[in-house]
Amino acid sequence: MEDQRSINIWYVCGLSLCNFDCSYCASGQPGQGDGRTNDRMWRNEDDPARYQKVLDWIGRQPYRIGLRLQTIGEPFVSWDFLKGAVRISESPNIRFVELVTNGSLLKKRLPRFIDDHGADPGRFSLWVTYHHTEISAPDLVDQVGFARDLGVEVVVNSLVFPDNADDLRHLAALCRERDLRLNVDLGQNFNAAYEGRPFVTVLDDKVVAVMRDLKTDPRIQVTSITAWGSPAGLQCSAGHDYVHITPDGDVFPCRGYQAGGRKTRLGSAVDETFTLDLRQEEFMRCALVRGCTCKEDFLHMRMARTPGRGDHRSLGLGYPGTVPDSELALVHGKLRRIQGVALMRVLESMAE
Ligand code: SF4
Ligand code: SF4
Repeated sequence: MEDQRSINIWYVCGLSLCNFDCSYCASGQPGQGDGRTNDRMWRNEDDPARYQKVLDWIGRQPYRIGLRLQTIGEPFVSWDFLKGAVRISESPNIRFVELVTNGSLLKKRLPRFIDDHGADPGRFSLWVTYHHTEISAPDLVDQVGFARDLGVEVVVNSLVFPDNADDLRHLAALCRERDLRLNVDLGQNFNAAYEGRPFVTVLDDKVVAVMRDLKTDPRIQVTSITAWGSPAGLQCSAGHDYVHITPDGDVFPCRGYQAGGRKTRLGSAVDETFTLDLRQEEFMRCALVRGCTCKEDFLHMRMARTPGRGDHRSLGLGYPGTVPDSELALVHGKLRRIQGVALMRVLESMAE
């Protein structure tokens, strides 16, 4: 292994079925292309075999890997997917496997995942997102508490939308009662689910109050807005300590760089001869003009670094480091251009 260097991989495989139907789903709506489905388990017939091949490839890479193993839909609907997750978790180069789930099937499926399929709870973590239109906060917290009590590291994730401030306050209180870690981010307006709203749906005084109540980290929200609106020229470690793998097995420095197609593709994880050879310099200036919208990606920007952060099994909570003043000055200039001074006022009041 290359000096036991630690990297993160975010792999989204072709498992596409979900038991929920969120209007703002980033995986799209069933029947509108090759995203989420409601009538079949996998996107394409060859996806299950490709999934196994990509896992084999990940297991051969000469790094210590923190793996966010994601699906287009919900992971706990498929035993084939879960068996693959157990298999890769046992590979010596894997530090942890993080599954991204809606949490609704944890009580039903986790005991069998552990007892019958041999999943070691100490090698897994769960990033459990609360979808306020599909599940009640008490049910979700009950499911996540159950998983935590089985020894799995858990994070309850939530997204602030125009219609869920009260739900999130309730969720936060329940998480406090059960001593569960809560992450809060700004919801994004995929599928134009919130008609007439911008991509980041809730930048106004109401959201400032919610974000304050829920103790949201303003640095991360500033990063998300800058990455979406104007990431070009900012420093980022994607391609050095992080790569993204698509459902087709293409490997990119990050999901945002998929826009570059073959020019920015590093190789294919279904090509047995391809080995990751990562950039030696930690940071490179981003070349994407607009649209770095995934948290797995933009947390690798230098502006999101925070001293002391990083002792966790997640690609959703951030990494340690410091941000030079010159980088912050660049960010401030960009924020003014993205949405004008109103946005700056909101962000600065969140930080007070
Ligand atoms: S739970 Fe996730 S994958 Fe399923 S519909 Fe909701 S946002 Fe989409
Ligand atoms: S800022 Fe986003 S798009 Fe740019 S290199 Fe980093 S992760 Fe990729």
